[in-house]
Amino acid sequence: MSSLVPRRDDLAALSGYHSPQVPAKVRLNTNESPFPAPETWRDELAGALERIEFNRYPDRLASELRAGLAEYHGVDASEVFCANGSNEALQCLLLAYGGPGRRALIFEPTYALHSHISRLTGTEVASAGRASDFRIDADDVERVLDEAQPTVTFVCSPNNPTGRAETPELVARVLSRAPGLVVVDEAYGQFASWSALELRGSGRAGPTATDADGLVVVRTFSKTWSMAAARLGYLIADPAVVAACDDAALPYHLSAMTQVAGVLALKYRTEMEGRVALVAEERGRLAAALAALPVETWPSDANFILFRPHERAAGEVWEGLVERSVLIRNCSSWPGLPGCLRVTVGTPSENDRFVDALEEILR
Ligand code: PMP
Repeated sequence: MSSLVPRRDDLAALSGYHSPQVPAKVRLNTNESPFPAPETWRDELAGALERIEFNRYPDRLASELRAGLAEYHGVDASEVFCANGSNEALQCLLLAYGGPGRRALIFEPTYALHSHISRLTGTEVASAGRASDFRIDADDVERVLDEAQPTVTFVCSPNNPTGRAETPELVARVLSRAPGLVVVDEAYGQFASWSALELRGSGRAGPTATDADGLVVVRTFSKTWSMAAARLGYLIADPAVVAACDDAALPYHLSAMTQVAGVLALKYRTEMEGRVALVAEERGRLAAALAALPVETWPSDANFILFRPHERAAGEVWEGLVERSVLIRNCSSWPGLPGCLRVTVGTPSENDRFVDALEEILR
């Protein structure tokens, strides 16, 4: 006799991570690229889709995509694991390395899915705070790692939603002290001046060359590659970690359509870098406009800016913007971010509309 049983009770405590999808003309709430991918990429993709044998399962190992990403990053294909967005890459990693009796360490405030996916996979979460500039506190990081003894340590660089990248020195210190894997989430990596991939095998990781063995760098096509709708992300790690993620993933999890979209995207690297430069320029303009308003702002190495209105409640400002058809992210209920809002850098006209609306509300 079947019946509707209560779901896992720890799931009920995990309220999902979702930005409200209210209709708005200017959507600056989820850190996507404001620019579409190249027209020629779309055309090539349309042609490639025609050639897919839809009656057959896709290449289970996504070999061509892995090879393309390996070439792009100068690593071996056995060091690349691809998934449906970097969130799924993280989920596979946590399925393989987390679970009951194991702990993940996160530095709050940070990307909410790191703790969420950890808990979903039954992994205990230890959280530490950050320094006043929202970077990981260099004076405290060794103590935190020694106390938590995490199997997986999350470092988000540049950090969502606060914006700064960590320094190579700080990440090297985490690598040399952490007892387990160190996941450097570089979803916004192309906006930063360095990548944790540079620490691999460079001897810079710490006292021994093997410190970087546990390094896992996570990347996504959702931001700079203008492909959020395709759901494609990946991680780069030791082949043993990649093999573990392959074992944790469902068979044929990555569709032939996603694989070919990624393979073709890699041909448009120059265009992607051009879009990154445009967004970085717009970020400067947006930061300057915010600096002239009664808000506190934080410097950003990513495609978004965190700010806090001086005298107005975040919720009120957020609603005022929605009324003006501008949607941003209200972060005020996130740990350590009272009163804070996050705006994604949009196109020049979207940014103008946001600044005009905000000015009107704060006036
Ligand atoms: N990591 C960070 C830091 C993010 O901000 C995001 C998207 N908001 C992701 C990972 C997930 O990206 P996706 O699953 O679309 O690749």
